[in-house]
Amino acid sequence: MYPTLLQIQNDLKAGKVTCEKLVNGYIQNIETNKHLNAFLEVFSADALTQAKNLDKKIESGAPIGKLHGLVIAIKDNICYKGHKVSAGSKILEGFTSLYNSTAVERLLAEDAIIIGRTNCDEFAMGSSNENSAYGSVLNAADNTRVPGGSSGGSAVAVQANLCHASLGSDTGGSIRQPASFCGVVGLKPTYGRVSRYGLIAYASSFDQIGPFTKSIEDAALIMEVISGKDNYDSTSSSEKVNLYTKELSFEKKARIAIFPSILQSKGLHADVKNAINDTINELKSNGHEVNEVGFDLLDHLIATYYVLSTAEASSNLARYDGVHYGYRSKNAIEMDSVYKKSRTEGFGREVKNRIILGTFVLSSGYYDAYYSRAQKVRRILTEKIRTVLKEYDFILMPTSPTVAFKIGEKTADPVEMYLADIYTVLANLTGIPAISLPIAADKNGLPIGIQLLTDKFEESKLFAFSHKMLQLNKLNRHSTINY
Ligand code: GLN
Repeated sequence: MYPTLLQIQNDLKAGKVTCEKLVNGYIQNIETNKHLNAFLEVFSADALTQAKNLDKKIESGAPIGKLHGLVIAIKDNICYKGHKVSAGSKILEGFTSLYNSTAVERLLAEDAIIIGRTNCDEFAMGSSNENSAYGSVLNAADNTRVPGGSSGGSAVAVQANLCHASLGSDTGGSIRQPASFCGVVGLKPTYGRVSRYGLIAYASSFDQIGPFTKSIEDAALIMEVISGKDNYDSTSSSEKVNLYTKELSFEKKARIAIFPSILQSKGLHADVKNAINDTINELKSNGHEVNEVGFDLLDHLIATYYVLSTAEASSNLARYDGVHYGYRSKNAIEMDSVYKKSRTEGFGREVKNRIILGTFVLSSGYYDAYYSRAQKVRRILTEKIRTVLKEYDFILMPTSPTVAFKIGEKTADPVEMYLADIYTVLANLTGIPAISLPIAADKNGLPIGIQLLTDKFEESKLFAFSHKMLQLNKLNRHSTINY
């Protein structure tokens, strides 16, 4: 196992390994870890062809891309031309991407090898990967536990060394929460940093693509490649993309805010609380300033997120109607029943719940009571966070209130499941970047992620300080997980 891509690239240059060998190694790992159900499809033939081409390229001395040697998996909601994509749903079973998402296009242009598509909650809705139409994913640290969601397959693929890195999408925590449960690094970039073109939409004002890796260097490198303005996504930003890998040193003393209301919240697991307190102490003993800042909006986060995200989802998912593409019911006889039956049979339970909830909050009699109000809360949250980040470099908090829970433990109670997102939705509601770092574990060795949030487009600073944190003696015990 290589900790960083740079080491792979050095070995490739020295002729100690080839891309073909790397791909074959991962294919073998995927085969022996099939029970984890992390991959929905392995693009073996294509990945091997590409690997051989890249090996020839390096032999011929031709210039090689920045991601040469990177074997990466993509979540099953990211389009890769000519390859199937289903968003973990039966309604898109058998659907083939007609074009590349911009993220994939940019990976390929820098010589990455895409090894397959990973399992996820249906339309990225979920916190445990139990909502996939293609079965649950198992956490490699403990097979009786969930990997988190919705990008559970992408997290496990990196955790269990089934690929070097992966891409996920994060609408309310779907990269950071599984990263935390699986003990890997997961980043949700600033809204607009990475193009959403070719990402199957869940809630468009929240969705962002981001990486899962085992190191900050790799996350920085992948972000250097996939970030930036894209004419196919008008919400993508033209803000300059920094050379994140060249800016990984953080020399000053950081000013860090913590919200006591979060550390005192009821659902916070004792081991997670200890982990965050240890982190705070370690940071302070290294000279960083950690201050308590009042934040009284915690109770509104989940409600605001679920009102707005389901509203957007109900609109985004209207296109799956059994007519344009995707699943069409065999029992349908006329137009109305094509719509009704195709959607009834094609969507899973959680997706239907959310479409109904989203349609309700947008309905004329309730629009002001729910949707408009939630938009106002979103604005208040954004202002509050902006004020905090004017004074502080970072906000520190746990990624999730618990470690990975048991499969089936929360499926009966959606509210209980939604509360798993309590610390992650803030970054999506306010558009700021946030990263989950694998720097703690509970008594049984289950991973605990610590989350760092910073101001918009400050990914450089976020990477640099994360890098620093992973190097602090007491915090780096869990940074390289080898199962
Ligand atoms: N768990 C959250 C949800 O179910 C977040 C999902 C996501 O980020 N895609 O909506």
